[in-house]
Amino acid sequence: MDGFTDQTSGRENVPDGATQTVLNADISNIYAALDLKTPGQTGGLTKKRFLAALARQGVRANDARLGGMKETLAKLDDADVIGLENFAEMVRPCTDLVDRAAKDELVIPDFEDFAREIEMIYSACLANEGGEVADYIPQLARVAPNQFGVSICTADGQRASFGDAETPFCVQSSCKPINYAIALEALGEAYVHRHVGREPSGRSFNELELNYKRLPHNPMINAGAIMCCSLIEREKPLADRFDTVMETWRALAGGERAGYNNSVYLSEKATADRNHALAYFMRENGAFPDDTNILETLDFYFQCCSIESTTDKMAVVAATLANAGVCPTTGERVFANDTVKDCLSLMYSCGMYDFSGEFAFSVGVPAKSGVSGILMVVIPEVMGLAVWSPRLDKHGNSVRGVEFCRRLVERFAFHNYDNIAQRTDRIDPRMPRDRQETDYTFHLIRAAAQGDLNEISRLTAFGVDLGAADYDGRTALHLAASDGRMEVVEHLLNCGVDHLARDRWGQTAYDDAVRHGWSDVANRVFAGNSGG
Ligand code: GLU
Repeated sequence: MDGFTDQTSGRENVPDGATQTVLNADISNIYAALDLKTPGQTGGLTKKRFLAALARQGVRANDARLGGMKETLAKLDDADVIGLENFAEMVRPCTDLVDRAAKDELVIPDFEDFAREIEMIYSACLANEGGEVADYIPQLARVAPNQFGVSICTADGQRASFGDAETPFCVQSSCKPINYAIALEALGEAYVHRHVGREPSGRSFNELELNYKRLPHNPMINAGAIMCCSLIEREKPLADRFDTVMETWRALAGGERAGYNNSVYLSEKATADRNHALAYFMRENGAFPDDTNILETLDFYFQCCSIESTTDKMAVVAATLANAGVCPTTGERVFANDTVKDCLSLMYSCGMYDFSGEFAFSVGVPAKSGVSGILMVVIPEVMGLAVWSPRLDKHGNSVRGVEFCRRLVERFAFHNYDNIAQRTDRIDPRMPRDRQETDYTFHLIRAAAQGDLNEISRLTAFGVDLGAADYDGRTALHLAASDGRMEVVEHLLNCGVDHLARDRWGQTAYDDAVRHGWSDVANRVFAGNSGG
């Protein structure tokens, strides 16, 4: 990057000694890392290459965290070179983000690769045309059934969207965890749970039934959601309460405003016998705080169900929950950690209607679905995900949404207990892929040196390549032979590893065994895969 013209300052950008000392060494490292990111192109970091490097990490050019840098960039043409000095000035307010993006240190380092995998899962689910759209109100029955959008946003604000990701839909029941969190945040767990339980009901979402304390079972079913609505800012006029909810959705989505569908609201209100019955039943049982205005509470609930979003925005909402209540794209704290912990716990156990237990078992992540076909999924500390496709299964969950989640956890180690299962056939995208493989190879080689056949069998069961070599070309067989681990040598040879593999010094496992005086091991290696 020497000798190029700095378009941002109009000067030749060869930092002289004095300038060099002023420049923050970190910034030049970042600059160099970004410059290297587009192989085959030298001559300085152009605007185009800079934005491409960020995009590959899932950081969008309009990301709020880039702040004033966006204005500076807007003044440049794609081919303009950003000089080091100007770069330093430009990135100062968002150094951490750019630094981590440049060095592949965001939560999903191979984001481009990961996004490609997500797109493949999206395409695989597209073929599924099973299920029916909700038809209890005409506004939902009329929605084009084949629409399908998927968006992801990581806990570091890396974003990608596929399909109908910008098409608005009403959030319906996915407003329930948000309202629960708003109530918790303002009133605390003890007070909120004086009015609503936290057990799965095992019954349908609008079942006319209360728990043994005569409270709604949990905030994720209608009765509990109506209860949470009654708790939110109950002393204020309804308009202000609704503003609070809308403002919360905005903050959760990184400053992007949610929409509102008045026809859905009117329709919900006009066909709400069961929700009225639930509210009066709860009042009869003394579940509400004193003086609750039932009709206003129901109105509020219908309004919240009629809020509109897109998967692109809802992925950020889910990511804010994944990021313990801090919106990843703005850094704004929306909910306290404890609020999010409680909310995710109930999404995990109760978020998927009558399929909640099965979903927690087989997919193993907190999620909330709504009858519009939205499925909001939280992978704690990793990412938020929004899948929207209107056709529903018999439980009221999006058919494609559920299939998407199943495929996702088949491919990636996102199930809550995958760390216990230690399955190496599932990718952990938090690690660069080459590091994962290096880790397995390291474990394998160490186990071989220690004669730990159990560990080797375990790694074998997970599909680890027993013939893998480390940086020096050393394989498990080399190490087992060097350390005289006959049992391991036997096992590896029986599994068909190459006994003639040479390390970087040209040595085979046989050479190692001879050098260390293990003649029986040497003989066994010599006999190769057929020996024994
Ligand atoms: N507005 C719907 C109702 O209360 C919400 C249904 C849902 O998404 O579960 O019946």
